[in-house]
Amino acid sequence: MMVKSTDVKQTTNIPIYQPNPQQKNPINKKIKQESIIVCSAHNDDFVIGVGGTIAKYIQEKKKVTAIVFSYGENSHPWLKKQVVQKMRSKEAEVAAKILGCKVIIFDLKENHFLEDIKTNHRDEKLQKIFTSLKPNKVFTHSSEDPHPDHRAVHEITLALCASLPVHPELYVYPVWNALTFKTSNPSLYIDIKETFWFKLRALRAFSSQQIHIIYPVFLLLFRAFREGLRIHSRFAEKFFRLK
Ligand SMILES: [Zn+2]
Repeated sequence: MMVKSTDVKQTTNIPIYQPNPQQKNPINKKIKQESIIVCSAHNDDFVIGVGGTIAKYIQEKKKVTAIVFSYGENSHPWLKKQVVQKMRSKEAEVAAKILGCKVIIFDLKENHFLEDIKTNHRDEKLQKIFTSLKPNKVFTHSSEDPHPDHRAVHEITLALCASLPVHPELYVYPVWNALTFKTSNPSLYIDIKETFWFKLRALRAFSSQQIHIIYPVFLLLFRAFREGLRIHSRFAEKFFRLK
């Protein structure tokens, strides 16, 4: 006699096996969540350079961690160091929440990143973070960036990536100055038409920087629009792949 599943439901408490759609294909089990690290000299660089891409990766269920190397307390020399640190770390946390990523903040002194990283075991702490996150992709500042702290972060990131047993893909991003590599480094364009507004909202979290940020929003809009044209989308972010 045939037993319908509905009959089983009515006559017994034995749970009926329902295959998990995720487990239908055994290959799915092997797919690991992609991990991405974005290295950022100051608390707002990761939003300015990679914000739309971070929000997009989060929508794609990837894990993104922004590492901010300094509080940037020199931005407000008239305020107490602790006050600025608290204010700027709060801003970074709010922005990261809007984008959906995690943020880890270090307290390197501005203009002294390369010396400071070697003190108080900061280099070991950073290495541990990289090792435990096992990044597939790492985004960092460009070696062509005019800001010395950005170039220092570039150098530190390169060394960290080289120390990993599996080398991640390494990309550079622009902050206010466009990437001008005249080399054959391949470009990566990420379509951010659906996440560009998250980037702008996240930027608004940096209220302490507003005097500096009002003008460049137009620059970001123009840049996202220009890169978007290259991939036939409304907005995009462009990166260069170094490794
Ligand atoms: Zn910066």
